[in-house]
Amino acid sequence: MLERGNGRPALGCVRPSYRDISLYAPDTSPVEVALADNTNAWGMPPAAARALADAAAAAACSSYPSPYGEALTDALAAHLRVPVEAIVTGCGSDDVLDGAIRAFGGPGARIAFPDPTFSMVSVLARVNGLEPVPVPLRADLDADAEALLATGAEIVYLCSPNNPTGTLVSPATLEGVVARAKGLVIVDEAYIEFGGTTLAGQAPSLGNVLVARTLSKAFGLAGLRVGYGVGAPALIGEVAKARGPYKVNALAERAAVAAVTAGLPWVEEHARHAIELRERLADALRALGLAPLPSAANFVLVPVAAEPGAVEIARRMRESSVAVRPFAALPVIGDALRISVGPWPLLERALASLESALASAPVPDEDA
Ligand SMILES: *Cc1c(COP(=O)(O)O)cnc(C)c1O
Repeated sequence: MLERGNGRPALGCVRPSYRDISLYAPDTSPVEVALADNTNAWGMPPAAARALADAAAAAACSSYPSPYGEALTDALAAHLRVPVEAIVTGCGSDDVLDGAIRAFGGPGARIAFPDPTFSMVSVLARVNGLEPVPVPLRADLDADAEALLATGAEIVYLCSPNNPTGTLVSPATLEGVVARAKGLVIVDEAYIEFGGTTLAGQAPSLGNVLVARTLSKAFGLAGLRVGYGVGAPALIGEVAKARGPYKVNALAERAAVAAVTAGLPWVEEHARHAIELRERLADALRALGLAPLPSAANFVLVPVAAEPGAVEIARRMRESSVAVRPFAALPVIGDALRISVGPWPLLERALASLESALASAPVPDEDA
């Protein structure tokens, strides 16, 4: 018989930095209007759906997939016109970011990033023993190159278009950071299909830049978990070591190949449509008296008053079956709601829900 160890001996050895990390727990209760996570509200490219059905029918699951997603790497290299050695795939781009952070900054190293930005960066830093160093966005919402460089961090992370603001990192800021950073510069282009200028073509010859991309947003494959990184072959090799083999599963790889080849026209057409609707959404928000930030992504961030606050407004909207993502007290911006772009009838419902949430009675004062 095994004896119970009370869990204590093992837990005493957990990394101290894990104490403050909680499991990711988004509200997943079903809603009729889901605009909280910036995925493709129109679904996936039909070519990817067909590839998935064919792969399932061929029972491709009893063998291991290719170790590093070779067929997908080939397809991505053709799509981006870069050498295959310049690409590493992953189980979502989170996996690529995780591998890069592990490979280029060991425990005790630091990663600097604009604040606010993608919330997973700080988590991935702490999971890998790095110290997250948030650097507030400038008042004009550009990343602060001087302050980021002044940290002397081993890794600088930039996200353009940035999540959750939707704003771009200016070319001057990007150039300054790439030219003067001490170590790795990660440029997260999760929303590049909706705006901004990609660095993917240049990254292979820059040497210190990893461009991270995902198939979870414009490409409509969030549930399959596929992402990739682009950079100099030597740098990519190190990320691949940290990432390890077999991270892109066999079904995901087939669907992803279809999405970046035959599915590409569908993806581009829906990205164009999302851009149009983003501007229409921003106009409608302004008509409600709000001041949405200029967005180059498939979402709009709209600041709201601290009373009743973004969390309370999102809660009220959820009661009418509309999910948006609230942010409380963001640096520079304050409280804000991030609303993903989707088909116009969904956006109309979200706008109506927001209007009545803003109009409802203020939160009752606890002391009253
Ligand atoms: C959604 C998102 C990702 C994508 O993550 P996956 O793991 O590929 O689903 C990466 N970076 C940013 C900024 C995002 O918003």
